[in-house]
Amino acid sequence: MTDQKLGLNTICTHVGEVKDEQFKGAVSPIYMSTSYAYEDVEVKRYPRYFNTPNQEMLGKKIAALEGAEAGMIFGSGMAAVSTALLAFLNAGDHIVLQKTLYGGTFNLVEEEFSKMGIEYTFTSGLEQADFEAAIKENTKVVYIETPSNPLMTVTNMQMVADLAKAKGIITMIDNTFASPVNQNPAEFGIDIILHSATKYMGGHSDILAGAVACSEAHMDKIWNKAKNLGGSLSDFSVWMLERSLKTMVLRVKQQNKNAKKLAKWLEQNGHVKAVYYPGLKTHPDYELAKKQMSGFGGMLSFELSDELDASAFMKELKLIKPSMSLAGVESTILSPTQTSHALLSAEERENQGIADGLLRFSVGIEEKEDLIADLKQALEKVVKDSLNFSI
Ligand SMILES: *Cc1c(COP(=O)(O)O)cnc(C)c1O
Repeated sequence: MTDQKLGLNTICTHVGEVKDEQFKGAVSPIYMSTSYAYEDVEVKRYPRYFNTPNQEMLGKKIAALEGAEAGMIFGSGMAAVSTALLAFLNAGDHIVLQKTLYGGTFNLVEEEFSKMGIEYTFTSGLEQADFEAAIKENTKVVYIETPSNPLMTVTNMQMVADLAKAKGIITMIDNTFASPVNQNPAEFGIDIILHSATKYMGGHSDILAGAVACSEAHMDKIWNKAKNLGGSLSDFSVWMLERSLKTMVLRVKQQNKNAKKLAKWLEQNGHVKAVYYPGLKTHPDYELAKKQMSGFGGMLSFELSDELDASAFMKELKLIKPSMSLAGVESTILSPTQTSHALLSAEERENQGIADGLLRFSVGIEEKEDLIADLKQALEKVVKDSLNFSI
């Protein structure tokens, strides 16, 4: 290959393949060995060193997708998040995190960091002044997540990267919701890019995995921490993930298209109170999203009118499955209050703007007409029930 920068679909299909030298098969063989020769070898390989042939090669695909020097695969999104954070934070250090965060990350910080003597501040908002106000003398990391879960708020990556760089602070982003298809934070100067590969990278609701992309120098630190913490992924799942990534761009583009159509349909519906999707012109962060994203993603949230029962609505859906997690090829829906944000107190949820009736919708690759028909029939049922009830 030449040095020409490859397009996303080509990276997905070809970069980071394990070559089948012996039989010349079309796809990567799986190396399941947990034991490798140590004499006369360049690299001493062991699955918990994150360097089996499949682990190492998939890391290259992740790096290429994010336009970074290095990539690494973990046993879960939280293994990637916790390892990366702990690689750069020690007792006495301080971290600034944006206030709208994935529930698991919030819990990691609240439950573990104080015990470790790591100080933390959640920003009061997403503007420059909010980050400036939160940064202290001993701040080592600024951590963002955009678009955020579940309200799809958008954080200005360039602003955060510039602000942190001027003070010598490392920036990290949870890029799970956007996926590398819609957003490449490295272009804006964000240092460390994290993914729950369980979501769009896997895309079929059957792999739990995490990924990190960053510079070689930062990856050395992360690798050192990772081999001690031990959160590596089995080679079988690594292989599954490589297979899934081949179609990531096709999946995500279809999900982008569907989500935009559905967001617009929900927004014009009289029984829907609010729709949160960064691709809607009415979204407060629309202009910023347009500037820093190449697609608006497959995630949206909405609230039904107050008199309608959101739980009953979910039960009436026939195609769209009420289900934990997100980003599969199938459409799923959930109540953040009952699932992803259940561990937060009611006060914390209110502080993050998460209403009890909020529904988070992970839009799949189905035909949009079928999804709209499903939403429509379920809405009609709960509207009818609410009328009967009020008589
Ligand atoms: C799911 C998720 C995580 C955690 O990933 P796991 O693979 O479940 O450990 C982190 N961040 C976001 C935004 C997620 O959606």
